[in-house]
Amino acid sequence: MNDIKLSLPHAGGHEKKYIDEALADNWIVPLGPHVNLFEKKLGDYLDSPFIVALSAGTAAIHLALVMLGIKPGDEVICQSFTFSASANPILYQGATPVFVDSEPTTWNIDPELMRSAIIDRHAKTGRYPAAIIAVHLYGMPAQMNRIIEIAAEFGIPVVEDAAEALGSTLGGKFCGTFGRYGTLSFNGNKIITTSGGGALICPTSEDAGRVLFYATQARENRPYYYHEHVGYNYRLSNVSAAIGCGQMDVLEEHLARRRRIHDIYSEAFASHPYIRVKQNPSAEFNSNFWLTTITLSNASPVTADQLRIALAERGIETRLLWRPMHIQPVFADAAAYTNGISEDLFSRGLCLPSGSSLTDDEVNRVIIAINEICPEK
Ligand SMILES: *Cc1c(COP(=O)(O)O)cnc(C)c1O
Repeated sequence: MNDIKLSLPHAGGHEKKYIDEALADNWIVPLGPHVNLFEKKLGDYLDSPFIVALSAGTAAIHLALVMLGIKPGDEVICQSFTFSASANPILYQGATPVFVDSEPTTWNIDPELMRSAIIDRHAKTGRYPAAIIAVHLYGMPAQMNRIIEIAAEFGIPVVEDAAEALGSTLGGKFCGTFGRYGTLSFNGNKIITTSGGGALICPTSEDAGRVLFYATQARENRPYYYHEHVGYNYRLSNVSAAIGCGQMDVLEEHLARRRRIHDIYSEAFASHPYIRVKQNPSAEFNSNFWLTTITLSNASPVTADQLRIALAERGIETRLLWRPMHIQPVFADAAAYTNGISEDLFSRGLCLPSGSSLTDDEVNRVIIAINEICPEK
């Protein structure tokens, strides 16, 4: 029996056609027709035309902070329950992260706790945080309407880390299109892949032009190389973008399959006394279920980590939920506004194999193994 992985790259069959085109035309560089085509396909899909394709999701978050002028001395609020790539770019800019815990319905940043944090930072430093980074974890939309409302009250721009949330919607609107900037990732384990890549969703064509300028070494328009700003080498290569074009052709299928896998798990564990599959909190939320996640109740005979280890022995890869940033050594000095939720989820939760290339048989193998290790009684 093959090992079952958490989330593998899933080629759709069209990638090679676009790569062959790129090679035939010698567009093996970080600019070219496939980068433009990939941006166009993303923009059409998201109904948000000002998109810049970049070398990574992390680069997209970094450039969002560059565009917002984040600098040393600034504080940036960031969801604590996330992958470190949401927060590291704050340090790249020499700014100071302030972590805010999650609320239980979406597992994303708690808007009311965020509001208290903003007020408390102002009381302590005399300044409001310079930006907010909200994340749609595991594809579940954050409470964006409330987050944007609070951010607007204090005039703070919002960056949406939608790395895990391509195709997720809130009230019918795509994740990544609520904030001033939205970021996507096309790493190998995400909804679609360019083998490595990302994108920044911008509010205007001027912003997108400026992002492109920073992403391509901030070269001024002169006949010689002339620089007034620090630039970055963050543009997506044309060959990677060609893979992305092929992936866009199967995006809907991949999304449907991730959601179907979530349905299969949900039905299987619907009446399990110790296992709860994470669901959309209401009809307004439409997660892509990038990863199906479960939490174990306190009465469970096994802990999440014991379940992970026992599944690994059966060739099934799972992963504990993200360990919150406010308990990561690298961010030990950062201020944090906590309520216990992310630490509780970290101790009780597990991500199940969810890749769109998984077969029904493989998903059933996972379900049978979990029921063996954690029996209903
Ligand atoms: C994957 C991911 C990123 C980083 O994207 P890369 O393309 O790997 O740089 C950022 N934030 C979250 C929440 C992610 O899951």
